This record gives sequence, structure tokens and C-alpha cells, in this order.
Amino acid sequence: STKNQANIGVVGLAVMGSNLARNLASREGNTVAVYNRTYARTEELIKEHGTEPVSGGFLAAETIDDFVASLSRPRTAVIMVQAGGGTDAVIEQLAERFEPGDIIVDGGNANFHDTIRRERELREKGLNFVGTGISGGEEGALRGPSIMPGGSAEAWETLGPILRSIAAIAPDGEPCVTHVGTDGAGHFVKMVHNGIEYADMQLIAEAYDLLRRVGGHSVDELVEIFRAWNDGDLQSYLIEITAEVLSQTDAETGKPLVDVIRDEAGSKGTGVWTVQNAVGLGIPVSGIGEAVFARAVSSKPAQRAAVQRSVLGRASGARPEPPTVPETFADDVRAALYASKVVAYAQGFDLIVAGATEYGWELDLGAIAKIWRAGCIIRAQFLNRIVDAYATNPDLATLLEDPYFADAVAEGEAAWRRIVGIAAASGVPAPGFSSALAYFDALASERLPASLIQGQRDFFGAHTYHRIDKDGVFHTLWSDDR
Ligand code: NAP
Repeated sequence: STKNQANIGVVGLAVMGSNLARNLASREGNTVAVYNRTYARTEELIKEHGTEPVSGGFLAAETIDDFVASLSRPRTAVIMVQAGGGTDAVIEQLAERFEPGDIIVDGGNANFHDTIRRERELREKGLNFVGTGISGGEEGALRGPSIMPGGSAEAWETLGPILRSIAAIAPDGEPCVTHVGTDGAGHFVKMVHNGIEYADMQLIAEAYDLLRRVGGHSVDELVEIFRAWNDGDLQSYLIEITAEVLSQTDAETGKPLVDVIRDEAGSKGTGVWTVQNAVGLGIPVSGIGEAVFARAVSSKPAQRAAVQRSVLGRASGARPEPPTVPETFADDVRAALYASKVVAYAQGFDLIVAGATEYGWELDLGAIAKIWRAGCIIRAQFLNRIVDAYATNPDLATLLEDPYFADAVAEGEAAWRRIVGIAAASGVPAPGFSSALAYFDALASERLPASLIQGQRDFFGAHTYHRIDKDGVFHTLWSDDR
């Protein structure tokens, strides 16, 4: 790029955009044009960080026209504004000024259906539109996120080297970015990533709850348990920060902070999108579903209070006695957590496969697991196992078929059953653990009661059924007096 030209631009300089712009500017060879609707934000970025860049630095644009004029061709602009209307507004402004071959990247948390629509509309104008999942929050945007770009192969040629230079680096030295697939593939995969994140967090929360309420461990002991787990198969960012969160003491009360935080979990909606799309595609992502529902249950204080009152009002002895807790309880919880996590990831990858089929993407499942190994919230050693599984057999019917995962589940199975049983007997909810086990048992059952459901359907709606012993479609004349 020439002196007054930038090879890349960022529109939207709130926390994500300014951190991404700083990340870009910190890489050799980049000159970064920056623009924000409210110019004060741009000035703030330049004032606070204008001396950081290693090469070309920032080109601050006060107007969208200046911004577009400052980009060398093919113009490449990354949008980091509020998802939805904000993104549409900025796309429109850029599209009016960009020329064929230019590239518009949306790095926000867009709904992939929007991304598919936007890509089609911009392609008709000769513009490249790349919907890109970016994971890792503020810190990731600054130091290296996991990046999940969709869009055309042509756009990837220009964009690839830039994104590789700012992405997180996996332990084996590979940047955590790959061209996921065309149009909305990147945002779809980011959506599933977030869904898996929900499931992972819920499972860890259940482990914590069981260890504390059933196992009787103190919060200090829990910090040690999670730290120890972080040295084994469960090693992950989420386990690591769990220990950190638990080790925090509230300055005001001196209590563990976790006891002071209101137990009502919020969400920004990507978990809901994951479940909605999975339901539509017929993919049982029960781990993600239970996680979304568990947050919803936690956020119903009136219902919780009502049921608590009714349980408290019962005569003594009307509630079950807590079960005896085995010596191996903490280890059992760890095994249940690991097995349930394997199920949650297997389900998430099933959803990715179904999305690829539905929307015509050629996705490399191993490559997707690879780019989640650093930078993003679900980064974990575990992902290497998924990489290996798909390297050995890209056509796995389910991750649970892979020998490593099949063994992992088999080894943990007895403990998993003990924990789900103890959770139920103790009155401690473990929807993630128990639904994962139910899913596993369903897949493992030679016969399912779905035959009865088919019978019921045929009875009341003449929906017909298939037989196990011959081809064809059958309907029973159930009775004469119907
Ligand atoms: P944000 O609060 O979602 O959005 C604020 C930015 O959007 C501001 O720069 C604002 O400009 C701009 N904006 C809003 N409406 C606009 C419009 N109609 N025209 C032009 N600009 C408009 O910012 P954020 O938290 O940095 O997130 C940016 C994107 O990254 C979002 O899509 C978010 O979902 C995604 N994301 C966030 C995180 C995270 O951890 N925060 C992680 C991954 C992805 P003004 O300054 O002029 O108001």
C-alpha cells in the first residue's frame, strides 16, 4: 500500500472494532484505515493507541467517503458494529462506494441467515461479502482471536494472509483461521461454536454444583479440584477460568464472589439460534438445548420461589433422603463431565454436518476443530482429539464412533451413571449430564420405543409405518368402531 493508502480498514470502533484495528496495526505490512459513525471514538483510538502500530499505522477517516478513499484496491473493510440494523446500514454505505472485486467483511455476531442474504445481494453488485465469526471477546480481538470466515474463495485470497497474521496461534504454531466455506458458513460455524460454549459451561456448572451440594466440598477445595482437572483431559480455557472465578473473594462481604453473584444466567441469543436451527434441521443438540433452558429456568425467580415454597411446606420426611456419596465422588463427577462433554461436541459437529448439507457448504470438520484450539472461549486440548478423529475418518457417523471417544465414554460410563443417579436422588439438577447420558443410551439401544410412537401415529392419523421384516409402507386397520 502507498503512503496514504490502507490495505485494510475497520468500521466500528467500539471495544471489538478498536481492538481488532489495533491487532491489525500491530502486524508488519498493515496500514489500517479506521472509521466510526461517531468521530469521537475514532479520535479516542488514535489518541490512546496511535503510537502503537509497527508499520503503516492508522489512517483516521472522519467520513465514510474519506474512509473508502483511503483504501487501496481491492478495498477490504471489516465491519465491527452492532449486529442487525447497524450492520445493514454500514454495508449499504460501503456498497454504494465500493467497486467490483472489493471486499466487505462482517466480523460481528451476525445471524448466518442474514449473512447468506447479504452475500447474495452484494455478489449481484460484483462485491465480495465475507461473513466472519470472530471468537475470543475483547481480549481475543486484540491479541489473536479464532476467526471463522465464510464468503468466496476469491475474497479469501486477499483476506487469508491478513487474517492469518492476526489470528490466535494454536500450540502447534498454526493460525486459528481457515476459509470455512462459502456465504454464511463462517457465521453458521461461529453460531455452533457459541452453542457448544453454552453446553460446556452448563456441564462445568453442574459439576461445580454437585461437588459442592452433594460432595460437600468447600469453595477453596473446588478451586483445587478444577485446577487439578485442568492438568488432564479436561484442560481448557473454561475449566481454567472456572477455578479463577471460584477463587475470587468479594471485597465487600469477604464471601466467595460466586455466592454473591445473583444466580440468574443471561444470554445474548446465539445459543437460542443454535437450538432453533438445530430443531429445524432435525439435529438433537440436547446438550446445547439443556444449557439454553437451564439459563432460562435460572432466570425465572417467581417460579423458583413458588416451587421452593411448596417444597418447604411439605411435611418432614416427604422429601427423599440424600444418598450416600461414594469415596470416588469427585473423580466420578470428572468422568461424567468428560463423557457429557464428548456428547455435546458430537452433537455440535452433527449440526455442522447438517448445516453443510442443507446450505451446500463443503466443510472440513477437522479444520474447524483446529481453529478452535486457541483464541476462542472453547479452546481446549480436547479439540486435538477431534482433529485426530476426523483425520483418521472424515466420514464418522458420529464422533462417538471414533475409537478414542468410544473408549473415553466406555471408561467413564459407570461413573456417569452413578452421578446421574446421585444427582436425581439428591435433588440437584443435572440436565446436561442426564440428557447426555440419555442421548448416548438412545444411540446405544438396539430397539427404541419409536416403534410404539409409529404405532400411535398410525392409529390416530394413519401415518403408516415400516416393518422390520419387509419393504414397503404399512397401515393397520386398528379397529372397526373408530
Ligand atoms: P457494539 O456495542 O455491538 O456496537 C457499537 C458499535 O456499533 C459502535 O461503533 C457504533 O457506532 C456502531 N453502530 C451501531 N449502529 C450503527 C449504525 N446504524 N451505523 C453505524 N454504526 C453503528 O460493539 P462491540 O461490543 O464492539 O461489538 C461489535 C460486534 O462484534 C457486534 O456484532 C458483536 O456482537 C460482535 N462481537 C462482540 C464480542 C464481544 O465480546 N463484545 C465478541 C464477539 C463478537 P457509534 O459509536 O457511532 O455509536
